[in-house]
Amino acid sequence: DTALIYFITPTYPRREQIPELTRLGQTLMHVSRLYWIVADDRPDCSLQIMNLLPDFSIPYTYIASPMPSIYKRDPDAMPRGVSNRRAALNWIRLNHNINDSNAVIYFGDDDNTFHLDLFKEIRTTKKISMFPVGLVGEYGVSSPIIDKGKVVGFFDSWPAKRKFPVDMAGFAINVQLLFKYPYATMPYKVGFEEDRFLSALGIRLDEIEPKAENCTRILVWHTQTAKKPKPIVMVRSKATLPGSL
Ligand code: UDP
Ligand code: MN
Repeated sequence: DTALIYFITPTYPRREQIPELTRLGQTLMHVSRLYWIVADDRPDCSLQIMNLLPDFSIPYTYIASPMPSIYKRDPDAMPRGVSNRRAALNWIRLNHNINDSNAVIYFGDDDNTFHLDLFKEIRTTKKISMFPVGLVGEYGVSSPIIDKGKVVGFFDSWPAKRKFPVDMAGFAINVQLLFKYPYATMPYKVGFEEDRFLSALGIRLDEIEPKAENCTRILVWHTQTAKKPKPIVMVRSKATLPGSL
């Protein structure tokens, strides 16, 4: 039977959070056998998000796990989404039946864009699967390089001597790997989160399952929402009510 997909979404408070989660939730509504783990980078769960998540009629868990303040000293080098992804992985380790290998884990950021075909591709992941991600870096795509159906290398604008120069959205793993490597987690090391996580899971190049028609299709994009500075003005003071002068 069809595997369950654990879709882990790190998210954080800013004014785009609710619209991003609304758009993503409405994508995930089209996917069967999906369990959404919304992992929020804040000390406590948000009432607004607790009220929003049931709207999508999909099974979910909402957890809060803030980035430790020691990692916030340099705003340009923050390990974004790490604390909350780690919390989601721990949640799976605690709640998933260790003997059930019929589940796949995928990291889907709140601002990315997902084609529905992506879910058909990742669902059959036996151990580790990989596929292209659009709009990553200078090259505009990050992808495994395939020869005769096997991954032989990577096309990525920032190799940085990584063994697995891939984007967070470019791979899926079978849940059993989490139990095989119970201490494997994501490091608080900017730029090396994917590489170190996959290395900790003991992944070898020859066992990577290429998806999306031998990595020739882009089914996920690293879209980003433009950041607007927070308005300084108090909106209330500018409001004009009907009848008032
Ligand atoms: N994120 C987070 N805490 C932060 C900043 C970002 O949890 O302080 C989340 C964010 O919601 C997203 C992921 O981490 O799901 C990656 O962050 P972002 O999209 O800002 O980074 P980029 O698109 O540049 O990789
Ligand atoms: Mn992003």
